[in-house]
Amino acid sequence: MADGAYDGIILGSGHNSLVLQAYLCRAGLHVLCLERNNVAGGGLRTEEWPAGSGSLHNTHSFYHRALTRQPWYADLELEKHGARYIEPDLNVAMLLPEGDEVLEWWTDFDRTVDSFARVSRRDADALRRWRDAFVPVVRDILVPEAQAPPLPADERCTRLLQTPAGRLLLETSALSPHEFVRREFGHPAIQAGLLFFNGLREVDMNAPGFGHHIPALLASDGKAQMCLGGSARLAESLVAAVEEAGGQVRTGVDLARIVIESGRAVGVETVGGERITARRFVASGLNPQQTFLELIDTVHLPATWRSAAAAFRYNLLAPLFGLYVDLDEAPRYAAAERYPELDDAFMVIIGLDSVEDFDEMVLAHQQGRIPPMVMWGSCPTRFDPSQAPAGRHTAFMWEKVPYRLHGAASNWDAEAEAHGRRMLACWQTYAPNLEDAVRHHFIRPVHDIPKLLPNMREADLLVGSLGEGQVGYDRPFPGAGHYRGHLEGLYLCGSCCHPSGNVTGLPGYNAAQVLLGDLGLRAEFGYD
Ligand SMILES: Cc1cc2nc3c(=O)[nH]c(=O)nc-3n(C[C@H](O)[C@H](O)[C@H](O)COP(=O)(O)OP(=O)(O)OC[C@H]3O[C@@H](n4cnc5c(N)ncnc54)[C@H](O)[C@@H]3O)c2cc1C
Repeated sequence: MADGAYDGIILGSGHNSLVLQAYLCRAGLHVLCLERNNVAGGGLRTEEWPAGSGSLHNTHSFYHRALTRQPWYADLELEKHGARYIEPDLNVAMLLPEGDEVLEWWTDFDRTVDSFARVSRRDADALRRWRDAFVPVVRDILVPEAQAPPLPADERCTRLLQTPAGRLLLETSALSPHEFVRREFGHPAIQAGLLFFNGLREVDMNAPGFGHHIPALLASDGKAQMCLGGSARLAESLVAAVEEAGGQVRTGVDLARIVIESGRAVGVETVGGERITARRFVASGLNPQQTFLELIDTVHLPATWRSAAAAFRYNLLAPLFGLYVDLDEAPRYAAAERYPELDDAFMVIIGLDSVEDFDEMVLAHQQGRIPPMVMWGSCPTRFDPSQAPAGRHTAFMWEKVPYRLHGAASNWDAEAEAHGRRMLACWQTYAPNLEDAVRHHFIRPVHDIPKLLPNMREADLLVGSLGEGQVGYDRPFPGAGHYRGHLEGLYLCGSCCHPSGNVTGLPGYNAAQVLLGDLGLRAEFGYD
């Protein structure tokens, strides 16, 4: 197999795989990406529903935070390949249940402070104080850390202790998000809003080590953005960048195993019996159980490595139930009578009242029951009419629900339709015009997610929880946190790696730095 046609093979065509592939191809390597689905891009999925209707729905990611600020976006010239993003000004609006108050997060921070001041002057001051304190933390530490392979914890800590920003980061991250919010903010709705905003990223709000997440989000320049034409356009632009650089993406390929010879990854075998060889590497965009337990024969890996992969944990709070609607007109929220800007809100959060609601949501997940309804969503066509036929709209709501309902994911079979209707009814209480405006609705229950994207085990959209032993240098597990997969020529590049999931492309970007370094090749990276 030594004279294979490809330098390397990448497993799965999530955006991280495609980012990695594009850098490798631009560095002169001949690289093939293999995908089991019939369309490339993983969570960058846009579906037309009903078929032939011209109504587009982004069912596995819509809010792409700070995407155009990611270094690979410019490096890979994705706008040349068709990607276009917008970042709506009123980025997030949380409707308080009485319907007469709204918390607003604007791209203009002063407007965010004004909105918080309507609810609590004291909390608005705290918001500004923490945002100002964290600007250097985000700019000088957190952003560069996310865009590079992680350092060992001791080395990182020694470095952080050398600067005021580093010490502030260490002090704040010693808290849990919950402790941080309760210590620094007083109003229950503001506490809840900040925690939920944080929870959208699936971090355990009770876990020490994550207290810095909320001030970091406040201080971050990058807000939620959307891809014009739908999230799939980003995938299409990545595939175009890969192909322009000579790479290939093959879809509809079921993998049977990664071929190991003399302790080295040298190719793959498909379920159909095809052998494809790789001269220099195999990189996996899949989760650790798929890569190390399902695709590699037991004999090739030490038992300790296999048990570490088997123990890789998933986020309890990550699964999202999706409700998608085709509309004759955009949702009109009752609260817009008092706050007309709500008509142009990008993300709208409804149903959240106080921190106790959040606690109840976590408890319900632990107990496998449906929590009190808290949802968030958008009407994409307000900002991009191309996603529906002229004069019509599409919109959606997502809700966090447990993957195992009453102990088993299959229990959703009997419950999902009724739950979708309950979500719609709840949405209508905030946006009464939906009662007449909905032409069709469809749902995507949580147990459907891993059927389509098996790397998102237990419907965990981050592909692995951000807890003890699964962050930074230790992600996905201690010993594997450097994008290398124990065997020579084997690499990891998906969301199970630092800095984790969501559409950031950074696991793929960092894997490209490691892999090209190992191969003695150079590429133009954004940080050069
Ligand atoms: C309902 C929902 C909403 C979300 N909303 C957002 C959002 O608004 N913003 C955001 O940033 N993120 C969001 N996410 C998360 C985001 O989709 C993921 O974090 C991201 O797609 C992970 O990227 P990835 O490159 O690691 O892998 P994925 O995008 O998961 O891609 C992995 C690919 O590998 C393929 N694959 C799996 N197993 C095999 C196999 N055995 N052989 C071959 N191929 C295989 C899969 O088919 C898939 O194409 C959402 C996820 C869900 C489910």
